[in-house]
Amino acid sequence: MGQKTFKFRQVKAECWECTSHIQDKHLKVRVNKRNYNLHHIIYEHNYGAVKDTEVVHHLCENPRCLNPIHLVKMSRIDHMRHHSIIRASIKVAQIHPEYGVLKVWDSLTEASQNGYTRSNITLCCASKVELYMDCWWMKVRY
Ligand SMILES: [Zn+2]
Ligand SMILES: [Zn+2]
Repeated sequence: MGQKTFKFRQVKAECWECTSHIQDKHLKVRVNKRNYNLHHIIYEHNYGAVKDTEVVHHLCENPRCLNPIHLVKMSRIDHMRHHSIIRASIKVAQIHPEYGVLKVWDSLTEASQNGYTRSNITLCCASKVELYMDCWWMKVRY
């Protein structure tokens, strides 16, 4: 008799923020006398092993988050590239399914200063959730 796998989708894109185990901005645990990032362990527990050339990245950009749907593995090179793109603050388009483009924000920072949650926009851009505030969100590259 085989094992049944349940698949489910979390509708709200909320971070599970851990408030213990904090050590230089990430959460650490000690296993066999080595320190590991807790989000790395949570990822491996849910999705399988991560190679030495890969890192586990937070789609929500919240280093204390342990929500498995916010975690993806990336090659170290892509990861560095991704974070340098964030620093260069690319534009983000807010698109309503009926009314079209409502606004193109100059950066995630600008959108977050106007009441939108950065992590929810990021999840939407990564297609982890479909809509945020009734809109699609897309990174704009020129
Ligand atoms: Zn999160
Ligand atoms: Zn990252």
